[in-house]
Amino acid sequence: MPDPHTTALPICRTCGTQYGAPRQDCPVCLDERQYVGAEGQQWTSLAGLRADGHQGRFEEEGPGVMGIGATPAFAIGQRALLLRTASGNVLWDCVPHLDDEIVEQVHALGGISKIAVSHPHFYSAMVDWAHAFDAPVYLHEADRQWVGRPDPALRFWSGRTHDLADDLVLINPGIHFPGSAILHWSAGEGALFTGDVVNVCPDRRWVTVMYSYANHIPERPHAVRAAADLLGGYRFERIYGAWWNRVVTSGGNEVLERSVERYLRFEEGIPEGV
Ligand SMILES: [Zn+2]
Ligand SMILES: [Zn+2]
Repeated sequence: MPDPHTTALPICRTCGTQYGAPRQDCPVCLDERQYVGAEGQQWTSLAGLRADGHQGRFEEEGPGVMGIGATPAFAIGQRALLLRTASGNVLWDCVPHLDDEIVEQVHALGGISKIAVSHPHFYSAMVDWAHAFDAPVYLHEADRQWVGRPDPALRFWSGRTHDLADDLVLINPGIHFPGSAILHWSAGEGALFTGDVVNVCPDRRWVTVMYSYANHIPERPHAVRAAADLLGGYRFERIYGAWWNRVVTSGGNEVLERSVERYLRFEEGIPEGV
């Protein structure tokens, strides 16, 4: 259960990041990859979200993958994914909301043994989630500066890859954020969990990458090429994106390859068909 003390901690209404103490501004929103809303900086808290009527939303997003978010949606509409793996449940990404009912439902699904987060836009209330399920949170060292609520539950990894389990590896593709992470699950036909580090497009036959989605700033071509090379070393049929139903259900490797090709064609100004 969330500790009564932490239910009062400030949560940014625009990005959903929870901070360990009250503050004037939200560094995540001041960054050029996010934004401060026209009304200025606005705060709430877990108690505030509850009072506003937000509740947990659970929906299966794929085989062995349960989506967890909030209804009505909050902040950037974060949804996390609970992976039912051979070595225990892993929570991929996190959400700003948590209440007793959500804790109960997740326990009924077997709890959480590990949490891993793609990048700061999904740090949200990760420390409360870690405490509620007694699970460590794996973050890339290169994004440590964005942690709003330091805690012993946070484990920082470094380098290009980090094994989370026999069939789970965290990959640092170096796009969107220097410490961004993508999770590869090799079980079955293989799946990639990308958050919006690699964003699944609405038609689900394409993906794309951006340095800033909010401000429409493209990612640098050399970084995109390097990320595609790194991810191409893994086999995956499915790609789970950041939002509800944004899931590529087949041909994942091929989708990534032709999407990166299309992106670079426009980004580098090469005429179509050449
Ligand atoms: Zn914010
Ligand atoms: Zn993001």
